[in-house]
Amino acid sequence: MTRVHNFNAGPAALPLAVLERAQRDMVEFEGTGMSLLEHSHRGKAYEAVHNQAGALLRELVGISDDYEVLFLQGGASLQFATIPMNFLHPGKSADYVLTGVWAKKALGEAKLLGKPRVAADTSKDGVFTRVPRQDELNLDPEASYVHMTTNNTIFGTQFHYDPEVGKVPLIADMSSDFMWKPFDMNRYAMVYAGAQKNIGPSGLAVVVIRKDLITTGRKDIPVILRYDTHAENQSLFNTPNTFAIYMVRNVLEHVKENGGLAAVEQRNRAKTSLLYGALDGDADFWRCPVERESRSTMNVVWRLPSEELEERFVKEATKQGLVGLKGHRSAGGVRASIYNAVPLESVAALVEFMATFRKTA
Ligand SMILES: *Cc1c(COP(=O)(O)O)cnc(C)c1O
Repeated sequence: MTRVHNFNAGPAALPLAVLERAQRDMVEFEGTGMSLLEHSHRGKAYEAVHNQAGALLRELVGISDDYEVLFLQGGASLQFATIPMNFLHPGKSADYVLTGVWAKKALGEAKLLGKPRVAADTSKDGVFTRVPRQDELNLDPEASYVHMTTNNTIFGTQFHYDPEVGKVPLIADMSSDFMWKPFDMNRYAMVYAGAQKNIGPSGLAVVVIRKDLITTGRKDIPVILRYDTHAENQSLFNTPNTFAIYMVRNVLEHVKENGGLAAVEQRNRAKTSLLYGALDGDADFWRCPVERESRSTMNVVWRLPSEELEERFVKEATKQGLVGLKGHRSAGGVRASIYNAVPLESVAALVEFMATFRKTA
């Protein structure tokens, strides 16, 4: 078996040990005579997995009893819609921090349901090269909530501080940097993440939400779209994506066995310093458009002197088993997504390839 170096933006790399465990459980799960996929979501075998996934998340992040941990369907994108449906009350506003493509999509859904405000927008001609500073956030103290995107998957920018928003609930889309390091959940009223970047397969959203925020949700919307429905039913209101939750359980167990989030951060920082170091070491050739203080630790983007060279770079890299390096169609250039499960060896192989490429370019 040859596994490539996977720099895909999402779905993305998963730990090999987690995939092998799933392979073992696929036909027969823990001596139960059937696959995990064939188990009832109301049965004991699955129930244990479901509860472990939530408990591990609480333990690794350090989540208090003031919060619910939910596993919901529809990915992060459904959250873009259900957040304003539940919490953007008629006549009230919500603040959106515009930092990229996903933030704009979230704002778009809120616009269909109410009158959200833009609290900051750092784009120039549709391109984002940094996130706003605290003093650039123009916040409404009466807003129903503030919505932000902690890491901008496409433009390669990331918040390196938790914004101060006063008494207004802070809601963060952490899809592409959830659990990349320890963080203080108490700074947020709600965080959510599509699982397919850092913690599992696609189609699943992990939601951590404060109980007092849930109780303010509207009751005149479809039952399945209400957070209280899922909280009251422990994310078992309807049949959940049992396999995705099982995979998240395995990823979290793997994280725990390997030193928790502090160790995850250490490994991620080793990867970023290696890759940004290579870019900065030859900054006339590899041009990183992102301002230094906003550089993402998860999605590293850069340009080459011409689009022809960029195309050649991606093509030749693929031949060498370095896949997923083409920049998003709206940003161009090169993007290496180096999420939690991408090993240092993959980044080292990429940096080595870059040096070879540079000599022949
Ligand atoms: C990938 C991504 C999404 C979309 O996730 P889906 O699960 O496909 O809906 C939303 N926000 C951010 C920041 C992302 O990176």
